[in-house]
Amino acid sequence: MEQRFYRDSRVEVDLDAIYYNVTQLKKRLSATTGVYAVVKANGYGHGDVQVAKAAIEAGAERLAVALLDEALRLRRAGIDVPILVMGYIRPEDAEVASRENITVTVYQKEWVEQVGDMDGTPLNVHLKVDTGMGRLGVRSEEEMVGVLDAIREKPGVSLSGVFTHFATADEDDLAYYEEQNRRLEDLLERFRENWKQEVDIHTGNSAASMRFPEQMHQFIRFGISMYGLYPSHNVKKEKPIDLHPAFALYSNLIHAKKLEPGEAVSYGATYKTSSEEWVGTVPLGYADGWIRKLQGMEVLVNGKRCEIIGRICMDQFMVRLDGYYPSGTEVVLIGKQQEEEIEMDEVADYLETINYEIPCIITNRVPRIYK
Ligand code: PLP
Repeated sequence: MEQRFYRDSRVEVDLDAIYYNVTQLKKRLSATTGVYAVVKANGYGHGDVQVAKAAIEAGAERLAVALLDEALRLRRAGIDVPILVMGYIRPEDAEVASRENITVTVYQKEWVEQVGDMDGTPLNVHLKVDTGMGRLGVRSEEEMVGVLDAIREKPGVSLSGVFTHFATADEDDLAYYEEQNRRLEDLLERFRENWKQEVDIHTGNSAASMRFPEQMHQFIRFGISMYGLYPSHNVKKEKPIDLHPAFALYSNLIHAKKLEPGEAVSYGATYKTSSEEWVGTVPLGYADGWIRKLQGMEVLVNGKRCEIIGRICMDQFMVRLDGYYPSGTEVVLIGKQQEEEIEMDEVADYLETINYEIPCIITNRVPRIYK
């Protein structure tokens, strides 16, 4: 049964945009490079299962997540394509991963030694190499050989991939990106001396795969730009492919009133009207992820920008209107209205953060509606 919602605030997720963005990237990649659709963190706040299905329909062959729980959610939803957990899983949970045919990431020989014998289905693993991200991965030939030897000793563990992650592929200055590529080539050479079977190699995130498609290997991992957002302002200017944003945040006015000059709005009475002002109330607040630091940001009402005035409350905030509007009037927090648009990037800039963070902080109290 379709879930009904009894509030006006909502995220509208445009699955056609997800489909479009995947096809745009695929056109730019060589035909021999496949795509992991990265749907960790509930599909960057968009909805993991819905995004995964749209991405697969558009030609993504595989999925990547950060946690075993996220992979299991996808399996429970009936998704049967290969899934990679890019983060850590506990060795005692490896059996669950093998049973559900979920590939996991390895980078420590002790971890491989600790996993059990995998009753029947082998555990698929990808080796993570740290070429400069400084997060997870083997950093030297010695560490790598240690892991490979441990895998050889474990008949229940099967190595099918090697990957790394770039720290600066979205920047103008490519010196560090090139350094990571050099370290990767060096480690891959050592790898091939030590491991004769074929494996899939995957390196690029959105930035690297869109900007340098010719440098990609068997797969890339497409995250932020699958959602229609560029990984940085530099890449947005460069625009290696066209993208359609998939996430829009809407609400409706639930009240409007005219205040006399000198009247206060919201907790702390920090905002005082300087003249007669029309003030509207919007039913969305910091418990929805519309955090208090967004005071002063603008929203769209009737195609016009209106400032958020006074402190943002847990469930509501107030805006200065240019006149009376009835309850039910649409308010756009992220997205288009008439000729105006508030992009995710504008909200991110206002909060001095990156666009990745914004859809992730809009809590699941705000229903996701799929178009
Ligand atoms: N690969 C790894 C290991 C990641 O952690 C991420 C996301 O942070 C991605 C790929 C996708 O990166 P992006 O969202 O920049 O495409």
